[in-house]
Amino acid sequence: MTVALLLAAGSGERLGADRPKAWVPVGGRPLFGWSLDAIARTESISQVVIAFPPGGPEPEVGVGAALRVEFVAGGASRSESVRLALAAAHDDELVLVHDAARPLVTPAIARAVIDAVADDPDVQAATAAAPVTDTIKRASAEHVVAETLQRGALWSIQTPQVFRREALDRALDAPAEVLAAATDDASLIEQNGGRVLVVPTTAENIKVTTALDLRLAELLLAGRRDDPA
Ligand code: C5P
Repeated sequence: MTVALLLAAGSGERLGADRPKAWVPVGGRPLFGWSLDAIARTESISQVVIAFPPGGPEPEVGVGAALRVEFVAGGASRSESVRLALAAAHDDELVLVHDAARPLVTPAIARAVIDAVADDPDVQAATAAAPVTDTIKRASAEHVVAETLQRGALWSIQTPQVFRREALDRALDAPAEVLAAATDDASLIEQNGGRVLVVPTTAENIKVTTALDLRLAELLLAGRRDDPA
């Protein structure tokens, strides 16, 4: 079985909304409600722990009675929120971590990432990812191009990310500055020499960061209402 950690503790400053990003209404429900619904419909998920903004009131959510949903106050960084949510989770072999800021996740995407870890004992983690379609260059602070990267080997990393519990516990046992610098949790496993797979998904699994992303998510989710699979 798999426990799911839903990260919803960010302030969402770049969105410029009047409330934390995960609580911004999209298509008739708070942003995090979309991914909670998709995770709740994913086979083999036994529990969801939601990290909510520290200092905020504990939210109330209605989901199917079959699934346990717990809330914990998140931390100062994304990885710190993962650590706090994991401490409240029961002890399943696999842990799925998902950003509430990605409302277009589906049970099929979550299942594919879970299977990538479950099917190979040598794999410590796997992440949803889309092949990069832009040409990517590395440039200096003065905007001078230093290098054009080989696009065929580049992936745009998304969530869900799935981990073997013991590998994630080990990776999160790191100094606060290492956790604060990590923009995803799979990178902490890579730093420990762990084997991490990318699982190709669709670029539609966008992250809502700006007001433009929110508009795009609204349009894509409106299309889903007729076809929720
Ligand atoms: O800031 P960013 O968009 O990269 O955040 C990704 C996800 O991590 C969001 O869903 C956000 O709510 C969550 N997060 C968190 N705790 C933090 C910072 C971000 O749960 N301290």
